[in-house]
Order: sequence, then structure tokens, then C-alpha cells
Amino acid sequence: MPATLLQKVWDAHTVRRLPNGQTQLFVGLHLVHEVTSPQAFDMLRARGWRVRFPERTVATVDHIVPTRDQRRPFQDVMAEDMLSALERNCKAAGVRLFDLSTGSQGIVHVIGPELGLTQPGMTIACGDSHTSTHGAFGAVAFGIGTSQVRDVLASQCLALEPLKVRRIRVDGALPRGVFAKDVILEIIRRLGVQGGVGYAYEYAGEAVSRMSMDERMTICNMSIEGGARAGYVNPDDTTVDYLRGRRFAPAGDAFDRAAAWWKSMASDRNASYDDDVKIDGAGIRPTVTWGINPGQSVYVDERLPATGDLDPGSRAATEEALQFMGFRGGDRIAGTRVDVAFIGSCTNARLSDLREAAKVVRGQHVAPHVKALVVPGSQGVRMAAEREGLDRVFVEAGFEWRGAGCSMCLAMNPDRLEGRQLCASSSNRNFKGRQGSPTGRTLLMSPAMVAAAAVAGEVVDVRSFNQN
Ligand code: SF4
Repeated sequence: MPATLLQKVWDAHTVRRLPNGQTQLFVGLHLVHEVTSPQAFDMLRARGWRVRFPERTVATVDHIVPTRDQRRPFQDVMAEDMLSALERNCKAAGVRLFDLSTGSQGIVHVIGPELGLTQPGMTIACGDSHTSTHGAFGAVAFGIGTSQVRDVLASQCLALEPLKVRRIRVDGALPRGVFAKDVILEIIRRLGVQGGVGYAYEYAGEAVSRMSMDERMTICNMSIEGGARAGYVNPDDTTVDYLRGRRFAPAGDAFDRAAAWWKSMASDRNASYDDDVKIDGAGIRPTVTWGINPGQSVYVDERLPATGDLDPGSRAATEEALQFMGFRGGDRIAGTRVDVAFIGSCTNARLSDLREAAKVVRGQHVAPHVKALVVPGSQGVRMAAEREGLDRVFVEAGFEWRGAGCSMCLAMNPDRLEGRQLCASSSNRNFKGRQGSPTGRTLLMSPAMVAAAAVAGEVVDVRSFNQN
């Protein structure tokens, strides 16, 4: 029977079907960080259990690390306590920890792929919503809660509901100035933030096939923002080329054998899908969110929705968002003054993201009223960017160049908005209060668009900038 990648990976990892209809699924790789693991380790200790497969568990520190001064002990006592707890737990359990001293620390969804830990055909779990990122490799990757982190630590298994699969084909070549971030914002705008509930999203089509692994990660990362439980791209030559030579990828003959198996896990040509959606990639334009969820977006040259045109159901949500953001229906998004420009997060803080942003700011300067920061997704990204001189491009343009971490994506560290500040952000969530201030406002966009907004001091169409 022809099968999708989801079905193949699911079947290969099924331990047994549970009486309640769920599947007990073996987890190939468990990624752990400092925020959702301390309680899980405590629960394990309280029951006298041990970590079942420490060699399949890998930890890093990302959410709470300061990005300006990373010397220990951290000034924030709670952050220091959390990192200390992670260090103690990993040491006691024999779990590998990529901390700040290793040169491999970073956002968990950046370092997994970068180190070659993330591989096609795997099941991956992590106590973080954006674990879907790893699906870019043809892995089936789930964000899980703290009690499930405990379960995976103790048993290396998860009990999960079966999922439907929606194939989303993005055909055509993306126009200049349009990036993977615009593609996923387009998908979420069309299908809705709840549209993916009960589904895994399979991203396919010419535009996705042509994407680099970094770009595929951006798309899969935000699957969760469209309601999907997971998102993936079928493994191909791009995937194999990315993994060759990575630290934890197989080497020599074992790599060739692995590559053949990885490709065999791709969805069969005549596999059937629960739903099939087509999107014209050539028609997508640079996109900016204007509201309080990632589905509330417009093209940069469009106007915000006029509430009078909407049905009563969506009118209330639109009015709430407009009011919170301080916008009026029918306003243009272009020309909106920004206070902060943030290039970072597990969505868009990889080397290719920094390269695209640097193209925009090279030889330019950040507007005087804008605070602008670049936070690489990992120490590896930071070092690679510095080898190319990207740090100098940003610093000369007036950006702050920071250490790796989640930073202003969710502000569990000193990087946060103040008051009503409005932030052009390359991150993935624009919920009320997400960036640290209860009244702070977030406009999601591609890193190149954030760079352009930093220079212009307002939302601007990156296509009007020299991007060479
Ligand atoms: S960068 Fe943001 S979304 Fe990604 S893991 Fe960190 S806090 Fe979560």
C-alpha cells in the first residue's frame, strides 16, 4: 500500500496500539531544555525512576539565557537556578548537555539540525511547541508538555492520537523579496490558526523542493501556529547534502546506507491524503502580521481589513486585534512606525536568515528611534556569521550583536519590550504580551523585512531595497 511519510514513520515506531485508540510511539530523539525539564526530572526522582535512554536524550539551554552578558552566575537568580538544575539533572542522568561553555549551545530547534542529531525517519519530541521545526528533515516531531517530558524520560515513549495528513503544495518560483516566512504566513492566513487541528502538514511542491534546509525549517517551525500537530517535508538530496559531515550524522558507508533509508521514508508518489491544498508561490508577496495571532496578516502593500466587510464571527476577533494594536480597519500596514527590530528565534535566526538581513542593511543605518538587535540561533550560527563578517555589517549599521538564545521571542530573559513598544520581529508568535510587555505589540515578518523596517524606522516593502 502506498503510504505517506507520516504513516511510514508512525508504523516504524509503534510499540503497540492502546485500548483508548492512541498509539504508544517510541521516541528516537528527546530534546530537553531548562524550562520544561526541571519538574519532569523531579517527578522522575519522586518515583525512583531513571532516564530510560540517556543516549537518546540531548539537552541545551536557550529560553532563559541572557544574550548580552552570558557570564555565570547570571544576574537573574531564577535563570541561574534553572540552568543549575539542568546541569545537575543532566549530570546525574548521564544526559549530554550543550551549555554555554561547549560552543554548540543554542536554541534547541537550531542545534538539533545543526549537529546532525535531527535525521529523516525519526520520531522526535521536545517540551517546546516549535519542535515541528525538525519535520523539515522528514522527521515526525512533536512538541510536548511537562508530564509528557517525564513520560519520555522514563519510557522513551509517548501515547499519541493518530493524525490525518494534509498535503500543502506550493508551486511556482517565489518572487524576489519573498521568503519561507512569507510562505508559511500565507498558509496560516489561508487555512487559519485552527485549520490544522488533527493534522500533520506535508509541505510539497516546486517552491518547497527548491528551498534550502534553513527555509524548510522556517516553514515547519510555524506548522503549530496553523494548528497542525506536526509538519514535514519529504527527505531528498537537499536533506542528504545538509546532513553529510554533521557531527552526529552517520559517516562513511553508514552514511550512504542511512541516506538510502532516509529517502525511502518519503511519501510514496501515489499515497493518498486526507486533504490536499495548492498554493501559487509566485503570487505570494512580502507579508506582515497586523494582529494578535499569526493568521492576522496582510501583504505589505495591502490595507488592514475593514471590519464592516466581515461576518459577525470574525468581526469581533478583528476588532479586538485592531484595538490592541492601535490600528484602524482600512489602514495601510506600510508606514507603521516601529520601535524595536528583532532578528532572532528558532524560526529565523539561522545563517541564511542573517545573510538575507545583512544584504538589506549593508551600508545603511538603523533609524535613530529604533532599537535593533540580531540574536543568532546558536553559537555555531554566531561563529559562522562572524567568519563571514556579518557581525560587522550589523554593528556598523547600528544593530546590537548578541549571544545565542531565544531572546525577545518570548522574553523569559532580559530582552523584552517596554510599554506599548511595537516590534518588527522575525519570530513566530504575536500574541498579546509575548515579547515581555503586557501591552507590547509584535509584527511578524521575514528577517529581510525586519532589517528593512529597522533602517526605514517603519514597515516598508523590502522589495524597494537593494538586496544584493
Ligand atoms: S525561539 Fe521562541 S519559539 Fe523558539 S524555542 Fe525559543 S521561545 Fe520557543
